[in-house]
Amino acid sequence: MIGHNYRAPRVDADKCKVCQRCPVRRTCKMKALVQFEAHELPYIDRELCRGCLVCVEECPFRAIVVE
Ligand code: SF4
Ligand code: SF4
Repeated sequence: MIGHNYRAPRVDADKCKVCQRCPVRRTCKMKALVQFEAHELPYIDRELCRGCLVCVEECPFRAIVVE
């Protein structure tokens, strides 16, 4: 399936501070970091993610992780 060949990170629910509007979303060119509501745990849409890992660097709480 499209997207699954990439190494998609994930949001670690234990580390994520669930910022009001996750600021890292703006840094994802693929709009793969999804947060529908403020104060909702964001998640990464693996079909859209291209594995650039920019978001991993951008989260100030290191809540976006790669396994
Ligand atoms: S991923 Fe990082 S920046 Fe985004 S809501 Fe979680 S802690 Fe905040
Ligand atoms: S790895 Fe890149 S494409 Fe995937 S969610 Fe993070 S910034 Fe977006």
